[in-house]
Amino acid sequence: MSLIVQKYGGSSVSDAQAVKRVAKRIAEARRAGNDLVVVVSAMGDTTDELLDLAAQVTPLPPQRELDILLTAGERISMALLAMAINNLGVKAKSFTGQQAGVITDAVHGRAHIVDVVPHRIRETIEKGQVAIVAGFQGVTAETNDVTTLGRGGSDTTAVALAAGLGADVCEIYTDVDGVFTADPRIVPTARKLERVTYEEMLELAASGAKVLALRSVEYARRYKVPIHVRSSFSTRPGTLVIEEEAMEQPIISGVAHDRSQAKITVVGVPDVPGKAAQIFQVVATAGANIDMIVQNVSAAKTGLTDISFTLPASDGTTATTALRGVQGEIGFESLQYDDTIGKLSLIGAGMKSHPGVSARLFGALSAAGINIEMISTSEIRISVVTRADSLDDAVRAVHTAFELDVESGEAVVYGGTGR
Ligand code: ADP
Ligand code: ASP
Ligand code: MG
Repeated sequence: MSLIVQKYGGSSVSDAQAVKRVAKRIAEARRAGNDLVVVVSAMGDTTDELLDLAAQVTPLPPQRELDILLTAGERISMALLAMAINNLGVKAKSFTGQQAGVITDAVHGRAHIVDVVPHRIRETIEKGQVAIVAGFQGVTAETNDVTTLGRGGSDTTAVALAAGLGADVCEIYTDVDGVFTADPRIVPTARKLERVTYEEMLELAASGAKVLALRSVEYARRYKVPIHVRSSFSTRPGTLVIEEEAMEQPIISGVAHDRSQAKITVVGVPDVPGKAAQIFQVVATAGANIDMIVQNVSAAKTGLTDISFTLPASDGTTATTALRGVQGEIGFESLQYDDTIGKLSLIGAGMKSHPGVSARLFGALSAAGINIEMISTSEIRISVVTRADSLDDAVRAVHTAFELDVESGEAVVYGGTGR
């Protein structure tokens, strides 16, 4: 008998019919003799709709209240799912993150899980019942307030519970058959990966492949939780995310894209020691996570240089406001803000030992007539910034240039709106 933690994403429980379909799947897995803990996301695009609602009542909702609002989405789906399972003759009980013992720090909106004390979940499975847990939420010991884990956070809830309960596997059920060499919504000829290492999955997730939330992969790697990403709409085997194997790594495991970034250019920065430190100190204090950085050669005549960097567009206003506040002190001329950029990343553990990967990437983009605005690399990743409206073409061109397309059996997208 195995202990399985399953997680169903919003697209898998988008309406009552879908909830019933998922309930049937869970009842079958329980009847097959497995102990089951099920983490569920809010139905469909509920979280985005709640965010839209909040924006209609205030431009700057207090983070504590926003968290209370957003956790309601998962409460709805957890209760409905438990009802639907009970209706099939299998006992199930639902729990909020707090009741499930998900303890976080106090950073509203992007809280980190600091402990998992799942007493009530253990009790429930010991009684032979299915425990349903609301994803994406916890409680902070500091104030006893509810917190949320950041977008896609139900994946992290599932992995954390799997680690805390010592589950045999954490199954992430979504609207595609697994992790593909590119987003199937953009590249229908993408190939499903049978397995991918934590290291590569970390880079994919960090580069925008939202099929798994970045934090969930970090957590899984730390606690060695095997993840199985698969579809809730089919019975096909999905992708295993596991530790690096002794075997040779593929050169390229996939192409990821990210449309959520923006670029700030600080124009006319005095080219003297300490200016970059000042700029990035201000941005860090504002709480923005910067990604790529480019500093131009200083024009000898003027002694001035331009510094560009990318950051999540959601941090754009805070960062630009903070920088404007110190313009006089740092002495730069002006700021440019651009949120019409796209980021493409090519990821593969085998690139460490294979020369020529960058040349092929840049060649593919050039042949497709796509201009590269910024470049950054890690040991197993190369990322470039392009115009947002050429990102899809860029992804397809690079995917083809690295011979990742499959001939037949196109990647299926079963549901979801891609929002
Ligand atoms: P869920 O609602 O189940 O949490 P998400 O929308 O968060 O689902 O994640 C699934 C989506 O991730 C897919 O529909 C797909 O569009 C997108 N995606 C992006 N990159 C990839 C990739 N490399 N492989 C599979 N899916 C990907
Ligand atoms: N409902 C939350 C979101 O949309 C959490 C999740 O789905 O994982 O981000
Ligand atoms: Mg998700």
